[in-house]
Amino acid sequence: MNGSDEVIIDKFGSLFRTKVTKDGGLLCPICGEKEGAPIFFSEEDLIRHLTRHELRKKESGGESNAPE
Ligand SMILES: [Zn+2]
Repeated sequence: MNGSDEVIIDKFGSLFRTKVTKDGGLLCPICGEKEGAPIFFSEEDLIRHLTRHELRKKESGGESNAPE
């Protein structure tokens, strides 16, 4: 396959499976490869972005407010 490669990121006790672009950028598994989707060049940046997805999910869902 000449598409993007998959990579597994182990963080927060969760495994995120996402893809790497030809340029070595990490794609957000939630945003995917759609036009205008963000690409990250470090795991930390991707993880920060994923954290924001989680926060947004909690805000809209509101079912589980995990205390800090
Ligand atoms: Zn995203």
